[in-house]
Amino acid sequence: MDAFEYRGKTLFCEDVRIDDIISQVGTPAYIYSKNAILAQYHELEIAFQDVDTTICFSVKSNSNLSICKILAEEGSGFDVVSGGELFRAIKAGGDPSRVVFAGVGKMDREIKYALENDIFMFNVESVAELEHINKLAEEADKTPRVALRINPDIDANTHAKTTTGKKENKFGIDLSEAEKIIKQSARYSNVDLCGLHVHLGSPIYTVDPYVRALRKILALIQNCRNEGLDIEYINIGGGYCISYTGEKVIRPKDYASKILPLVKEMQCNLIMEPGRFIIGNSGVLISQVIYTKETIHGKKFVICDAAMNDLIRPALYDAFHRIWPVNASIKMPEVENPDKTMVKKGMELVDIVGPVCESSDTFATYRALPKVKEGDLLAIFSAGAYGFTMSSSYNSRPRACEVLVDGDQFRIIRKRETYEDLVRGEDL
Ligand SMILES: *Cc1c(COP(=O)(O)O)cnc(C)c1O
Repeated sequence: MDAFEYRGKTLFCEDVRIDDIISQVGTPAYIYSKNAILAQYHELEIAFQDVDTTICFSVKSNSNLSICKILAEEGSGFDVVSGGELFRAIKAGGDPSRVVFAGVGKMDREIKYALENDIFMFNVESVAELEHINKLAEEADKTPRVALRINPDIDANTHAKTTTGKKENKFGIDLSEAEKIIKQSARYSNVDLCGLHVHLGSPIYTVDPYVRALRKILALIQNCRNEGLDIEYINIGGGYCISYTGEKVIRPKDYASKILPLVKEMQCNLIMEPGRFIIGNSGVLISQVIYTKETIHGKKFVICDAAMNDLIRPALYDAFHRIWPVNASIKMPEVENPDKTMVKKGMELVDIVGPVCESSDTFATYRALPKVKEGDLLAIFSAGAYGFTMSSSYNSRPRACEVLVDGDQFRIIRKRETYEDLVRGEDL
């Protein structure tokens, strides 16, 4: 199903006109489709059902309580990277016994908090961290499950800033170091070292990097078993791609067809940590055009009321997001056409920018867009993941509201911030 589609000339989310939502909540606004979230979740669940699989939604991709609650109610676990994310997962009704905790810099207070809540597993990223968890576990009289996060030195062909599995990255433990830890596992008697974890980066548009990583880990698992350590869980992280351009991309069943045979060979239970795949195309950011301007050099700008503080991906990762008027007399092409010479009548090449005082506050450059004017609404697509969660109030811009659509109903799931919210906690 396509949750966001034009009916006639106007954009809908499920059975609700975007126009109708915006006339009540204003702009900028994030709008999510509940049924798109469920459809993505179930597609993954079905693709991997051949083995015992736990899906742990990556909270950092979208941590809104109502979004997490939808997934908790489906039985999803959660992948958290901080104490704050664990707090959110629990508050949303998530079961702590289905939470995995990754991150290179877990602090003692976060480890204690996770121990108190009996989370499912820590994904450990260094020897130093393992020592801390072991000691804190002894003090708390607990024996937490632990997976070593392996850095397999594999290039997932993603943007340099979203690659996590190469040897120069800060993440994980390299294979030889992991072998050493495993040989000395008796030292860590207060943890149950029963898993291996890998997360290569994101988004990953082929299954090959997963396969190469799992082959390396398969050998390690055999070594572990030779040392008498039973590895029961393989966690393959996240990174499953979505289409940002309308082009066809590989789907969960394509990943599963290559990954599952290796998991079976490992005789492990599977854990996965999807974020983007579930929520990325389940959300849009709606913005209103404030001004248009053309320089004497012939450059055209569309200045809108959303900015890099609302959606930082273009500025941070050169990420591409499709942008199209909410009410459009020209049909949005099925697939983004990169050929700038193909600009049709009624369209123009523009830079779409926000009001923030930074040149990097640019959503798109030389983008073919139907002619727009002040007051028009623009939809920025594929904004559900790493959109609101990465937003800030830079330039003292109150953060956007978030709205959830379910069928022909919608409701605000996070209020727009106010000026008072901006200064909350500041003492004069
Ligand atoms: C960010 C992250 C994920 C989620 O990545 P997606 O590309 O959103 O699926 C999963 N696991 C870990 C450890 C992460 O840091």
